[in-house]
Amino acid sequence: MTILITGGAGFIGSNFIDYFLTNNPMHEIVNLDSLTYAGDPLNLVDANRNPNYTFIHGDICNRSLIEELFNKYDFKGVIHFAAESHVDNSISAPSAFINTNVLGTFNLLDVSKNHWMDAPNQIKEGYAESRFLHISTDEVYGTLGDEGLFTEQTPYAPNSPYSASKASSDFIVRSYHHTFGMNVVTTNCSNNYGPKQHDEKLIPTIIRKALNNEQIPIYGDGKNIRDWLYVEDHCKGIDLVFTKGKAGETYNIGGNNERNNLYIANVICEILDELVPKSSSYNQQIAFVKDRPGHDFRYAIDASKIERELGWRAQENFETGIKKTITWYLKKYNK
Ligand code: NAD
Repeated sequence: MTILITGGAGFIGSNFIDYFLTNNPMHEIVNLDSLTYAGDPLNLVDANRNPNYTFIHGDICNRSLIEELFNKYDFKGVIHFAAESHVDNSISAPSAFINTNVLGTFNLLDVSKNHWMDAPNQIKEGYAESRFLHISTDEVYGTLGDEGLFTEQTPYAPNSPYSASKASSDFIVRSYHHTFGMNVVTTNCSNNYGPKQHDEKLIPTIIRKALNNEQIPIYGDGKNIRDWLYVEDHCKGIDLVFTKGKAGETYNIGGNNERNNLYIANVICEILDELVPKSSSYNQQIAFVKDRPGHDFRYAIDASKIERELGWRAQENFETGIKKTITWYLKKYNK
């Protein structure tokens, strides 16, 4: 079967493609990516060597291109990563978020439905297993205080243009199941980290600035908490939901690894002190900067549904995953 993956030149998509090609040699993948600033062809050097992999340079907002690709490759599955994903950019330039995350998702979903279904609840012959997996985020649930966890029942309360655009796309995906009986599944995941993440995100920024002897910028008082998940654990969860998840359901994925930003900066500095020592500790470079407007205080995921129903478990905790991540970035930055 041939599967359409969108946004596979980005951080999670490219890690997923490597994971999926290795673990599912019977499937072929077509990766549709418009190569925005966030997509990097270098993330796909391993995939490019695999005969089951094809890259298409194109935009998910281009409906006629998506229709053409469905006709050519007869996709029986879609795993949809493509998005504008950086909250800071959604504050300075939100329109790309609405285009890609809302309209782009709608295009993909609608073309998939038309390719797989004759009418509401009438699946075309040969497409009974065809499934649309939508990758979303825990940010759709808004923010938490000191206590509590996001479950699949938590009401949506997105606070940034990014999370609002993702929430909108989640609702459109949900409606295609309830209205048309389409086989959709959605995953809502916490913050990922690991190899191939774009330099603009928190953990690569801390590592890069530390190594360049620059200030390591930490928003506000550094007490904001995220539930960090090593990207390979996320990929395993996506694969499980795609193959075993129940149609119409959503699954929260999170590592039960709540850490605040200041702790993260300090741990990275400690590991760099060991691996690339210099005269003073890297933690001397940590500097607090003006907080992001609307900065959510805390995200934390209750992943018990995917653990119970699909047998998923995060294998890395933050302290083991961050060592692997730093080792990868040291190679990238030639240190
Ligand atoms: P990323 O920004 O690293 O990659 C996004 C990819 O999508 C890039 O390759 C980019 O070129 C491509 N893209 C953007 N607009 C496109 C368009 N219009 N058409 C085709 N391709 C386009 O993002 P990521 O961190 O890998 O996130 C992937 C998905 O996972 C997103 O949907 C995001 O909302 C979700 N998510 C991310 C995290 C995280 O911590 N990174 C956590 C939870 C959920």
